[in-house]
Amino acid sequence: MNYVSTRGEAPVLAFDDALLAGLARDGGLYVPERWPRFTEDEIAGLAGLGYAELATRVMAPFVGDAIARDDFARIAGDAYAGFAHPDVAPLRQIGENEWLLELFHGPTLAFKDFALQLVGRLFDHVLDRRGGRVTIVGATSGDTGSAAIEGCRDRANLDIFVLHPKGRISEVQRRQMTTVRSGNVHNIAIDGTFDDCQALVKAMFADARFRDEMALAAFNSINWARVAAQTVYYFAAALALGAPGRAVAFSVPTGNFGDVYAGYAAHRMGLPVSRLVIATNRNDILARFLANGRYELAEVVATLSPSMDIQVASNFERLLFELYDRDGASVRRLMERLRAKGGFAIDAERLAAARALFAAHRLDDAETQAEIARIHRDSGVVVDPHTAIGVAAARACRDDPRTPTVALATAHPAKFPQAVERAAGVRPELPERLADLFERPEHCEDLPNDLDAVQTFIREHAIIRGYSKG
Ligand SMILES: *Cc1c(COP(=O)(O)O)cnc(C)c1O
Repeated sequence: MNYVSTRGEAPVLAFDDALLAGLARDGGLYVPERWPRFTEDEIAGLAGLGYAELATRVMAPFVGDAIARDDFARIAGDAYAGFAHPDVAPLRQIGENEWLLELFHGPTLAFKDFALQLVGRLFDHVLDRRGGRVTIVGATSGDTGSAAIEGCRDRANLDIFVLHPKGRISEVQRRQMTTVRSGNVHNIAIDGTFDDCQALVKAMFADARFRDEMALAAFNSINWARVAAQTVYYFAAALALGAPGRAVAFSVPTGNFGDVYAGYAAHRMGLPVSRLVIATNRNDILARFLANGRYELAEVVATLSPSMDIQVASNFERLLFELYDRDGASVRRLMERLRAKGGFAIDAERLAAARALFAAHRLDDAETQAEIARIHRDSGVVVDPHTAIGVAAARACRDDPRTPTVALATAHPAKFPQAVERAAGVRPELPERLADLFERPEHCEDLPNDLDAVQTFIREHAIIRGYSKG
């Protein structure tokens, strides 16, 4: 399988090259050249498989012959062996035809582990074959940093440096990163804000000499392999609820549009998905888009569901590419308008096409608190704020009460103890394997908000060996 850019002007790449490249050279995002499609019989044949085996089969058409099937199966087995639940992504019933898909049994208690546990290992494998090594650099305001670190730790061909704003992330979030003991993991606390951290990372990637010297890389949420990995749990859930014989609706707490777009990919691959609900907080650019066809940037506001406090939903470009019949020139025009004017509108016909599958619903913080309390009262289940938004949106957008509706539980409630306790009156406990998190020693370097200081630190601590591109 080859990958093309949504903007139509970057080289066509195989799976492994798209994995290492991340963003396409024309500023676009890589998507498969055509959608692989499973027949009903093939989907029926996936029922009952273990999670890693399912991942191997579902992702096989995306990987093509870029990675040998046996190698991929071994890597997937290894990636999901670290999850604390035997089903990896278990379903939990919370009402009549209402389910939670628990995606928080990975090492950092959030759904990003599904992609990053796999992608870290895939990077390592591909670099191994090419005899190369890369330096992963990223900034985090809290959650993504720990998932990236856990995905990279102990990998032979990667060093990872994660910048966080000193004193401005929660203690659980900091400790999930700084207590990781691995020679290739480097935490840096910057004396500044998250925006300062992000500006430093951008400046490092913009510094061509430094970028090449350190073989800088990132595996951010636009990486195709992350999307591909996330299609798997849509298959797992739908199969468990009767697919291919029965259609299933999903409701997805959404920020960057990566997770819900993976649901779209599963739908294109033949999985019977009757509806995809975009569940948002007050940062509701996607809900406004579905209501009126206008995609318009607004100020980001801080909410109880911080992982969804995003305005530019990067992966949305991939859906636009489909709505515009895979015409890169149209996508380029829209993205240019977004940059220059802060927004764009699409025509009624394309909006109708989007609405045929997608719906959206938004909750403010008060409604989110009320929903956490309601779910606890009605079903005894304690959910985190992101998940609560997913559950409420699933109910608000329900088409047919006979269709099973699955809300994606994207984070463990213990990641957001204050918000959960205030709403439900119970304090969620960290799972056993993280119970001693507050006693573990921390490893972190304090640095000033200064590009030179950060680059010097990275130069001194990374082991560098470039890799051949292709
Ligand atoms: C990242 C994240 C989301 C948003 O996912 P996207 O793929 O960015 O839409 C939702 N919930 C939690 C807990 C997250 O960490």
